[in-house]
Amino acid sequence: MARYTEAVCRICRRENNKLFLKGDRCFANKCAFERHAQAPGMHGTHRGKPSEYGLQLREKQKVKRSYGLMEKQFRSLFEKAERQKGVTGANLLVLLERRLDNIVYRLGFASSRSQARQLVCHGHFLVNGRKVDIPSYLVRAGDAVSLREKSRRIAFVQESLETVVRRGLPEWLELDKASFVGRVRELPAREALTPQFSEQLIVELYSK
Ligand code: SF4
Repeated sequence: MARYTEAVCRICRRENNKLFLKGDRCFANKCAFERHAQAPGMHGTHRGKPSEYGLQLREKQKVKRSYGLMEKQFRSLFEKAERQKGVTGANLLVLLERRLDNIVYRLGFASSRSQARQLVCHGHFLVNGRKVDIPSYLVRAGDAVSLREKSRRIAFVQESLETVVRRGLPEWLELDKASFVGRVRELPAREALTPQFSEQLIVELYSK
């Protein structure tokens, strides 16, 4: 499976945004973006005025990289969003949130989406009682996502569950920490999702 190999903090600096790719470190004063906000590389301090295309491209990269997707996966999710009823940009964000790796991260079983993806790939989770090891699996309203019994002693999962309070649990999810079960109460509306994304720019980019 293709994956990013560059240092993830460079991605935040390149996108000029905190993308929270590194778990707890992102909330500590060690965060590289807070210490050096300029883009990486020799010319990082000289960002010229971006073109319209540049703005659209950067927005797409920011969203894509936040969820840790490669171009092909992101594009195919966009095409799925286009085929759905409603506003394409909002559909895209909802589809991204519905990915199983994202749900595992949001519920607090993992401290980052990349860690969540690894846990899912290794078969640690059940959806409605059945093992699912596909990170791109799309959950539905009412689905229960639980950690398998034999996986409940993994130390970093327990630590992550202790610190989920810091990130906050979205209102459209619920978690029973004692039984390691999360539930999707309902699919989120656009207003419940990350406000700093300008998804319309992505729609414009892919419509060219
Ligand atoms: Fe981004 Fe987290 Fe690194 Fe800060 S610590 S730059 S938020 S990945």
